[in-house]
Amino acid sequence: MQDLAAGIAHFQRGVFPAKAARFQHLAATHQPSTLFISCSDARVIPELITQSEPGELFVIRTAGNLVPAYAPSAEGVTASIEYAVAVLGVSDIVVCGHSACGAMTALADGHDLAALPAMAHWLRHADASRARAACAEPGTDKVSALVRHNVIAQLANLATHPCVIRALAAKTVTLRGWVYDIPTGAVDQLDPVTGRSAALAA
Ligand code: ZN
Repeated sequence: MQDLAAGIAHFQRGVFPAKAARFQHLAATHQPSTLFISCSDARVIPELITQSEPGELFVIRTAGNLVPAYAPSAEGVTASIEYAVAVLGVSDIVVCGHSACGAMTALADGHDLAALPAMAHWLRHADASRARAACAEPGTDKVSALVRHNVIAQLANLATHPCVIRALAAKTVTLRGWVYDIPTGAVDQLDPVTGRSAALAA
């Protein structure tokens, strides 16, 4: 806890003053351009890898960057998506997977999740991801293949939410699938139709 308190002290003295005007503006303004859905993994920092400023990303982080398909019994992820799209009017939604994802590794390697019943239940939202990966070309790394197919499957889940369906029909939102590579910092963009990936930036 001491490190966190020291971090806050550094933020208040060494970082905040240079951005004081921005924070003053943000006190009464919330207009993020992007809904960024990533894994809860501590090594994936959306604002860092996109070099975004406070106020620019509306972030949802879940184990395995999973997005439950829409169901009337709405829960937290659904409510946050609805708020970002229908109220804040984000123009882009990114689902960002990452290398060495623990959730995808557990599924790809068939880990015993008997002692983690909540996780086992949550990972059912990746059933379609596993089915897609099972049809993948043989010889590819199991985990990285599942990471990619999971991003595409979660984009499909996202597109079942009524607010997203309406925004897509009105062409006011664009869905993007990314994979972040921890050891190199590379970010690939996935084509949801072909599954092909291409480096997002040189
Ligand atoms: Zn992960």
